[in-house]
Amino acid sequence: MKIPLVDLKVQYLSIKEDIDSAIENILETTNFIGGKPIEEFEKSFASFCNKEYCVAVSSGTSALFIALKCLGIGEGDEVITVPNTFIATTEAIKSVGAKPIFVDVEEETALINSNKIEEKITKNTKAIIPVHLYGNVCEMKKIEELAEKYHLEIIEDCAQAHGAEYNGKKVPIGKIGCFSFFPAKILGAYGDAGGIVTDNEAIYNNMKLYSDHGRKIKYEHIKEGFNFRMDTLQAEILNIKMKYLNDWIKKRKKLSEKYSEAFRELKKIKILKTKKNVKNSYYVYVIRVLNNKREEFMEFLKNKGIANAVHFPIPLNKQSVYKKEYVHQEFPISNMLAEEVLSIPLFPELTEEQQEYIIENIKNFDGKD
Ligand SMILES: *Cc1c(COP(=O)(O)O)cnc(C)c1O
Repeated sequence: MKIPLVDLKVQYLSIKEDIDSAIENILETTNFIGGKPIEEFEKSFASFCNKEYCVAVSSGTSALFIALKCLGIGEGDEVITVPNTFIATTEAIKSVGAKPIFVDVEEETALINSNKIEEKITKNTKAIIPVHLYGNVCEMKKIEELAEKYHLEIIEDCAQAHGAEYNGKKVPIGKIGCFSFFPAKILGAYGDAGGIVTDNEAIYNNMKLYSDHGRKIKYEHIKEGFNFRMDTLQAEILNIKMKYLNDWIKKRKKLSEKYSEAFRELKKIKILKTKKNVKNSYYVYVIRVLNNKREEFMEFLKNKGIANAVHFPIPLNKQSVYKKEYVHQEFPISNMLAEEVLSIPLFPELTEEQQEYIIENIKNFDGKD
């Protein structure tokens, strides 16, 4: 049996009629930039997050950049985040002129260790970007307390956590959350797209202006911005997918809980933890392969036709672009996890038969010598 890590094609086929007619409609109207579909998406995604506002933008990376920029973070400022995230998080920080300051993660969840944040706060610290990795949610209560105490902004990187909850509240928990709609994400466009949600009207207005050349109406610019707009075509595709989002997240959860149940007692494989007050939305299902067995395990899965991937193999502090700057700093847990983590197939359309096959093979591997 051959099982991909994600299967975007089966999902497309399941909504093909609606998608095809939406694309055709955009082609017919030649309404490619702005317009109703963008407004509709902003409304429905804000409402999905239980927030007042959403700005539809060109990618998750630009969402993070705009949020930092519009909160006034720039030259000389420090922004706290984690080394085990996608480089977009630190690219956004660097692009506004600020410096990423890394905090190591918790072993059990792979999320920022909120007990290690305070020691990294200096007079230059302006913001924290907690990354809700793999669909799990960071310890926001502690992070909000610190932000309050030191007057810091919180920008949540929700690129992997659409619909995740903390104490019954959907992410973002704080003022601003940045989402990616990269095709393979929990909600994926058919190209690049992103979004920023907030309840704060002033910040929303600022971000909306900034993402579209600082203009309120055509050719009237009240400030300088940039072009970070989402394509109308992508908004129309996302509008169709919004109808299914809750159902898809439920399916991810059900599949993931079945994996967790099956792997709980294994010896070479360890599962990550979701705390009781968190509802994980499972962007990817990540296991830890212990005792230096990951290479062997990946080879084993490959031979069985089971696709797998490592999110992420090299912590950012060790990436060649950054390693000079962070050479004297150690992040032992994120290092260890980078060597152990492995993502196995997870997507809403994964069949029971496919999942049984994956579970059986993983159990077999665990049982060998
Ligand atoms: C995907 C991702 C991003 C960037 O999103 P793009 O839409 O690809 O620009 C940022 N942060 C994290 C944690 C991500 O997984």
